[in-house]
Amino acid sequence: MICAVAAPPSPVRTRFAPSPTGFLHIGGARTALFSWAYARKNGGTFVLRIEDTDTERSTAASTQAILDAMEWLNIDYDEGPFYQMQRLDRYREVCERLVAEGKAYPCYASKDELDAMREQQRARGDKPRYDGRWRPENAKGRTPPTGVRPVIRFRNPDDGVVTWDDLVKGPISFANEELDDLVIMRADGVPTYNFGVVVDDWDMNITHVIRGDDHVNNTPRQINMYRALGAPLPSFGHVPMILGEDGERLSKRHGAVSVMQYLDNGYLPEALNNFLSRLGWSHGDEEIFSMKQFVEWFDLRHISRSPARFNAEKLLWLNAQYLKGAGDARLVALMRPFLEKTGCDPDRGPLAEKVAALLKERVNTVEELADAAVYFYRRLEPSAALREQHYMVGLGRAMDELRNRFAHIDWNRVTIQESLKQVVAAHGLKMPRLAMPLRVIVTGEAQTPAIDAVLEVLGREETLARMDAERPRLPD
Ligand code: GLU
Repeated sequence: MICAVAAPPSPVRTRFAPSPTGFLHIGGARTALFSWAYARKNGGTFVLRIEDTDTERSTAASTQAILDAMEWLNIDYDEGPFYQMQRLDRYREVCERLVAEGKAYPCYASKDELDAMREQQRARGDKPRYDGRWRPENAKGRTPPTGVRPVIRFRNPDDGVVTWDDLVKGPISFANEELDDLVIMRADGVPTYNFGVVVDDWDMNITHVIRGDDHVNNTPRQINMYRALGAPLPSFGHVPMILGEDGERLSKRHGAVSVMQYLDNGYLPEALNNFLSRLGWSHGDEEIFSMKQFVEWFDLRHISRSPARFNAEKLLWLNAQYLKGAGDARLVALMRPFLEKTGCDPDRGPLAEKVAALLKERVNTVEELADAAVYFYRRLEPSAALREQHYMVGLGRAMDELRNRFAHIDWNRVTIQESLKQVVAAHGLKMPRLAMPLRVIVTGEAQTPAIDAVLEVLGREETLARMDAERPRLPD
């Protein structure tokens, strides 16, 4: 007899741990996406933790902005959000344990004292670092200053080397000599980043810490703390940073860096996700793929070791590709706020789905889609230059005849095109000499999709009204 044995639950647990000191930016979103993809790929768990211990810079609005951006990008989490400021008791408990075990100690040095210490070190040509003056063996016999609440420092090992095999960068080593005794708990009882992150990653059973490589220098310190706590070490993978096209660190100068700015600028989340996933990761030459494919293909070993370049044009191109494939009803909903901004009411005019279907092939963003749609909702008066260019002698009479035909046909692309052909033939014109001015008269623009398709969507009544409105301007 064959017994089916259920696969054991995947132990993989990853997390995204943003500090809510601003909006979710492109780099953060990419880190979140990689962590998320690794968990999903391995049937694991993805945890969201808000690292809000920088009490001066953290805001509830930033937290909300991060949650909104993750929701927009569809990066869903299985646990959390956990808030570090709600876990202070736990950090205190772990900290007390470290102190009791002689692995951490109170330090009473004032800021001025530490500044002076660093100044002297610099003057001697040494690297500024905490000199261990409140290590218990050095502080023997000294009475702590009264009224000063100490910080707690972690007693870093003095010698030896910390090494880990980074999932992205390969083996990395730091000599303990280079690391000083780090403050893990501030005087007000709030942990510093390096301590909070270790306690949390440990408590939350995180198996794979995937984060930006600006944290590489923190990792040996964190590893020392795991060891001091007797906690199992997670694997670490540090993802290279994102540069602008000019090779400088990505900043506002290179375009929008806030994820939600892309929503405001008319981008689709699937386009941004596709773009973000290709920032430093690749699967052969694949450029356009779904999140499902991304998860299937995702492999930390295929993350590039060198920085990624942010290419705004590529993102725009990807967005255009996704727009072409997007459903019309969805596009209408997305286009609505943009149309309303331009004073158009998408409920008054032709069926917006048809407008979206007609225009989506030609635009790069939802904003461009809405801009291109304006003439469906409002008559745009042609500019003097366009009138000058397209209104030739005899146009008035040709338009009168066209109007007559339009008034009686069954209204669709084919019959509209036939009417145009008949008038062209009757007046000895070439098609563009009739179709171009018609386009200008009805839409106020020189570039639109095929005019028969535009008129079909616009409808007979509105087409005739616009032809009538412009008739006095047409030369006979
Ligand atoms: N809160 C840290 C940051 O936003 C998280 C770093 C980490 O993932 O360990 O940079």
